[in-house]
Amino acid sequence: MLDSQHTQTITVGDASVTASISPCCWMYPGHGLQIRVALPNGGSAYLHDAEKPFDQACEADVDRLLRRVRVIPCSRCGGQAFDPGSVVTNRNGLCERCFLSDLDAEFAEAKVKEQAEIAALEAKMIAEGSTHRDLCRGRIARMAKCVLALVFHKKRG
Ligand SMILES: [Zn+2]
Repeated sequence: MLDSQHTQTITVGDASVTASISPCCWMYPGHGLQIRVALPNGGSAYLHDAEKPFDQACEADVDRLLRRVRVIPCSRCGGQAFDPGSVVTNRNGLCERCFLSDLDAEFAEAKVKEQAEIAALEAKMIAEGSTHRDLCRGRIARMAKCVLALVFHKKRG
């Protein structure tokens, strides 16, 4: 049986791909063999053999899965990325760095959008005659209502 800490490395093209055993193997009975594969640049992906019981899996089974892995140049920067057709990944052919920078950009965009919505709402309220003080009072009143509702709810059990 494979040790939970077992790792194996092969070279795919000029990339070294390291396999480790996914915790799913022992967390979910009957899950089969699942490995996590990683590139030196931090990218990772999964390969799963549901037919192979984990307690019967050996290094050759890991090797067999590992050899399915294909590494392609990142579609943006040319860095090493997993071919999404060869492994289970949500990176879509991007290397880890490009994938993460997209996530950061999406997060920053969502934050800017949210702040713009709040600012627009406040501007609208002010235009309709609310003062900054009214806005604050409104917030305090809403908070007080929430607290009262909680207390009331708690009393009723
Ligand atoms: Zn990239």
